[in-house]
Amino acid sequence: MLRKKLIAGNWKMNGLLSDGQKLAKQIAVEVKALKPACDVLVCPPFTLLTTVKKALRGSKVMLGAQDCHVEEKGAHTGDISPVQLKDAGCDYVILGHSERRADHGETNALVKAKAQAALEAGLKVIICVGETLQERESGKALEVVEKQVKASLPNNATASTVVIAYEPVWAIGTGKTATPTDAEEVHAHIRKVLVHKTGKIVASRMKILYGGSMKPANAAELLSQPDIDGGLIGGASLKAEDFIAIVNKAK
Ligand code: PEP
Repeated sequence: MLRKKLIAGNWKMNGLLSDGQKLAKQIAVEVKALKPACDVLVCPPFTLLTTVKKALRGSKVMLGAQDCHVEEKGAHTGDISPVQLKDAGCDYVILGHSERRADHGETNALVKAKAQAALEAGLKVIICVGETLQERESGKALEVVEKQVKASLPNNATASTVVIAYEPVWAIGTGKTATPTDAEEVHAHIRKVLVHKTGKIVASRMKILYGGSMKPANAAELLSQPDIDGGLIGGASLKAEDFIAIVNKAK
C-alpha cells in the first residue's frame, strides 16, 4: 500500500481527566480488538496527555498534541515546547489548525518554524490548511491552499514525518462537509504542489487528510477518493462509537 490511511481525533479544548481517560480507554480497547487497516491517533488537550498516554498503553493508538512553541525551552509563559511533548510521550503534533490561525494570528511562517522545531524534537507533524467560505465562493480555494502548503511546509519534510490536513474552514464544526468531488479536487491539487516542493516520490507517499464535519455517515465516500488518505476528526472524535465507526471505514 502506497499510503496507509490515518484517522486522527482532534479533541480540541474538551475533556476533563475522567472523561478523557474513559474515551481513550474505549478507543484503545476497540482498536486492539478490531485491528483496523489504518493508523489511529488521538490528540487531546495538553492537560490530558499523560492520562491518555497511560490509557492507550498496550494498544497501537498514537498520541498527539494540538500545538507547540518554536523554542525548546525558556521564558514563554503558557506555552509548551516540542521537546516537552516528545517527553510526555507524543508521537504527533497538529500545527496551523484554522482555529489557531484565527484565534492566535498564526501565520504560515510561524507554522513552518513550529513544524521544523517539532521535527527536530522527533515528532511527526500534521499541517493544516484550508480556505474560508469567502475564498471558496470567490473561486480562490486552490490558490489559497497552494500558498498555505508552500509556505507552511518545513524544509526537511518527508512522507514519514509530515502529514497535510486539508480542512475547509467553512466545514469545521458546522455540519457542512465538502463533497467528495470538491475535496478530491483540492487534495489532488495539494499533491501536485507537493511534487514541486518535495519531488515525485515524497509527494506520492505523503498523506493528505480531509477534515471538516467528517462523520460515520460521510466517511466512506470521502475516504474512497484517490488522494484522501484519512481524516482529521473534531466533533465525531469525542464519541468513541462514532470515531471507531470512521476508523472502520478507512480501508
Ligand atoms: C477539526 O477541527 O479539525 C475538525 C475537522 O472539526 P469537525 O470534525 O468538528 O468539523
